[in-house]
Amino acid sequence: MSIEKEIKELAARYRDYTAENLSEIVKIPSLSGQEGPVIEKLKEQAQEAGFDEVWIDGLGNLIGRVGNGPRKLAIDAHIDVVDTGDLSQWKYPPFSGLIKDGMVHGRGSVDQKGGAASMITAGRILKELGYDGKFTVYFTFTIMEEDCDGMCWLYMIEKEKFVPDFVVLTEPTNLGVYRGHRGRMEIEIHFKGKSAHASAPERGDNAILKAAKAALGIAELHKRLRVDEFLGKGSVAPTIIESRSPSQCAIPDFCMLYLDRRLTWGETKETAIAEVREVVGEEPEIIVPIYRRESYKGTVFEQEKYFPTWKFPEDHPLVRSGAEAYERLFGEKARIGKWTFSTNGVAIAGRHGIPAIGFGPGNEIYAHAPNEATPIDHLEKASAFYAMLPYVLEEKIKGW
Ligand SMILES: [Zn+2]
Repeated sequence: MSIEKEIKELAARYRDYTAENLSEIVKIPSLSGQEGPVIEKLKEQAQEAGFDEVWIDGLGNLIGRVGNGPRKLAIDAHIDVVDTGDLSQWKYPPFSGLIKDGMVHGRGSVDQKGGAASMITAGRILKELGYDGKFTVYFTFTIMEEDCDGMCWLYMIEKEKFVPDFVVLTEPTNLGVYRGHRGRMEIEIHFKGKSAHASAPERGDNAILKAAKAALGIAELHKRLRVDEFLGKGSVAPTIIESRSPSQCAIPDFCMLYLDRRLTWGETKETAIAEVREVVGEEPEIIVPIYRRESYKGTVFEQEKYFPTWKFPEDHPLVRSGAEAYERLFGEKARIGKWTFSTNGVAIAGRHGIPAIGFGPGNEIYAHAPNEATPIDHLEKASAFYAMLPYVLEEKIKGW
């Protein structure tokens, strides 16, 4: 029997098992910074599935290993979730993990515990096939992504020196093979003024007015940002304004303007800051804020809030292997695409240039939305895809 046929049969046999594993982890809420209990549950699931080794790193990420090959393939799911929002908009309670009408329901089922459950099954399939190829396959269940995308991976790469050759991100792609997304950064601009009694504004220098003028300039800047054929347009928008003043009857001597910047291909931290500098002039201070928050294990690993853009060409060996794995398994051409949102790829591919693709169950339009639910069909197909990829990669990449 061909390898793809064997894998498909196993994925179908484990269809309910995958759905039930997903249901179990959806039932455990895991906001960023509070992932301990769900990591413990996934550790149990990975051990029960027969992974060769399962451990938790210094930050709190869970890593499961299958195989002993000289090359490293990592398959990644972040397992933290965003909050529920307005409960009255949910048809079923957000942490029900309800399995109904061919779907698994609940917060995180799409973004992105569905990928995690399919990964557990893929590990089980590889073990059952006695996988002994050129890859060691690492299944990474990572934390705090919703709060600071990629930080968990910067930790693994820079602190734990875990550097894979290839990475698959299992964020929802509706079973398309994705090859990039826009990056992003956050920018704070500090305007200084001079306070005076507000009954005589001309005696002072109003920091709010400086920030307001800059905000209008930023709106103009947005219009002229560049467009990439694949990733789309860069964007910039003021999102927070905060001023300080000795009293409501005084001219404010400080104002902070906060910007959300999405970076398309060719835009970097340096180019983005230079553009803002041009709008606001020499005087105000421009700052890229630092993310600093304790993980559930009490570890702090800080990073600048800069999340670089990444994409790989359609003919990249990893993108082609992903497309071929899909085609051999499901007998149709893979849809190649990109995410609208940001993922751990910003650290893996954006900062460190490690080749990455995306492939995940569920539709990204349900991410962060009420009534999140993922089709069990997708879970089954994703588990087959993750198990198939190391075989295809090994064939595809000659000379190893
Ligand atoms: Zn996500």
